[in-house]
Order: sequence, then C-alpha cells, then structure tokens
Amino acid sequence: MGKYSIGIDLGGTKIIAGVVNKETGEVVGHAKKHTKKEKGSDIVIQRVFETVEKAICIAGIPINQIDSIGIGAAGQVDRENGVLIASPNLNCFDLELKRILEEHFNMPVKVGNDVEVATLGEMKFGNGVGYNNFLCVFVGTGIGSGIVINGQLMRGANGTAGEIGHMTVDGGGRPCECGAYGCLEAYASRTAIEKRIKAELRRGESSLITSILKEDDYANGTIRSSHMKKALEQGDELVISCINEASDYLSSGLSSVINFLNPEAIVLGGGLVDSIDYFYDIIVKKTKKKALPTAVSSLKITKAKLGDFSGVVGAALL
Ligand SMILES: [Zn+2]
Repeated sequence: MGKYSIGIDLGGTKIIAGVVNKETGEVVGHAKKHTKKEKGSDIVIQRVFETVEKAICIAGIPINQIDSIGIGAAGQVDRENGVLIASPNLNCFDLELKRILEEHFNMPVKVGNDVEVATLGEMKFGNGVGYNNFLCVFVGTGIGSGIVINGQLMRGANGTAGEIGHMTVDGGGRPCECGAYGCLEAYASRTAIEKRIKAELRRGESSLITSILKEDDYANGTIRSSHMKKALEQGDELVISCINEASDYLSSGLSSVINFLNPEAIVLGGGLVDSIDYFYDIIVKKTKKKALPTAVSSLKITKAKLGDFSGVVGAALL
C-alpha cells in the first residue's frame, strides 16, 4: 500500500488533479486545466490523462508510492461500476471512467459525485472536522451540497440527497436546467449571475466586465468568478447589484435549510465563495438574519478550508 493517492476533481469548467498524502490530506503536487466549451467524452478523458500526468510529474513522488485514484465528477454517477451516467455540463453520457482510467494508469479507480467527495474532503481534513451534523454547500457553475448526519454522508434513498440547488426559491420563476421553475441554482449560481449580467449588458447597461473579458485571452466569453471579483473591486455597479440579488436568494435557501435541519455548521465553498469575499460576507450576514434565532445561536458558518482542493482531497480518500 502506498501512502499517496491521486484525487481528481472533474468539474463543469475545470479539472484539478492532485497527489494527496492520505494520512495528512496534504496535496503534494497538483495540476489544473480548464475544460473547453465543446467537451464530449474523448476530450474530457484526454484532458484528465494530461492533468493527472502533470500532477504526478509536479509532485515528484515515485509512482510505486501511489496506489489508487479517486475521481469526483460533476453529474450523476454509478458508484458501483464507476460510470459517469450523465453530465450535461461536460456533455458526457455513460462514460466508463473507472474502466478507462484503470486501463491507462494500471491502478484501482473509484468514482463519486463531485459534491459528495468535496464534502468528504472537508469532513476529514477541512472545516467539517469536529462536527457530526453539518452541511457543505458549494456555489459555482451550479449549487450543490453534501449533508453529514451523525458523522455519515447522507445520500438519500437513491443518491440524490443534498440537491440544494434545485430547492424552489421562487415558485413559477426562472426556468432551471432540471426542467423545473424557480430553483435556487437559477438565481445564485455563477452561471445565473453571468446570465443576469449579460442580459443587462444587452439592454444597454454598461459595466467594466466588458473590458475585463476583453483583456483575458482565455475567457472565451465566459464570465468567471475571477472576472466578477475584479469588477467588484473597481466598484462596478452592475456586478455589485447582480451579486447582491444572488445573495438574497442564496441566503433564503440557506436559512430554509438551517430551519429544517438545525445543523451545527455550514461550510461554504465553490468558485464564487472562494474568489469573492464580499459575496461570502453578505451571505453569512443575510442568512443569520433570516434563519430562526435559536437555530442560528448554535450555528457556525465557515468557508471551506481546503478551498479549490476539497474535491481533490476527498476524491483521493475514496
Ligand atoms: Zn432545478
């Protein structure tokens, strides 16, 4: 048995692979690649290979010290067979991740869902340590959460527990990718904020985001969290108002969950929370104001300690 394992976070917009010390949770080397817009199984697999190989190279750990690979994928997974059943964001369907990666790297591979493994990472080595009942909520391309009850990850009857992004926050409101209307994800994810900003620009609003995107050769027309952060720091009114609006909905969603579950802690992560301190701060403030005072009195809200690496570390622990 080696001391190290490879963790892969296969997200909707980027792939991060890391060589992880399983005893300490330390990421000794990592690599990151953005997934391109066209995507599809072949491109995704090739990018995963490249990212893992680069991470191993950077870590400088002899390959015989690495004994396994874990992967957390954005989408619906078949854990037993290691298949990514459906990932609309990556345009991958029935992708046999376990078989393909085992053949290529010649070591055992386990597959989980990206939010589930990120929660596992925070539970073992992050800000979930010390809590038996808590939630990890990740706000990025979509919004997902992992629920830990009595120290165990709760998956639900057939694995869909924690779909906080598809809680209704506005009955009959904006359409969501899932087919329903008024889901939290359609208001407070990075994608939702991006859509709002673009809609306002089309209506003739001006924003620094236009020039920020032009300066970034890799932007590809996508407004990333880092672009929003830049605009916020320069006092851009449009971006501030869109972020404020998103925080209203997210804090409503979180306070409902707090009232419902009475957790000891909520750990917030994902690109938007990681990159934009302002967003995190107003979320915490508004959520505490909206939830039941008794539930709030024993509640701790923190940022994910492992940041971008929650998923990588958790995947390695699979
Ligand atoms: Zn939905």
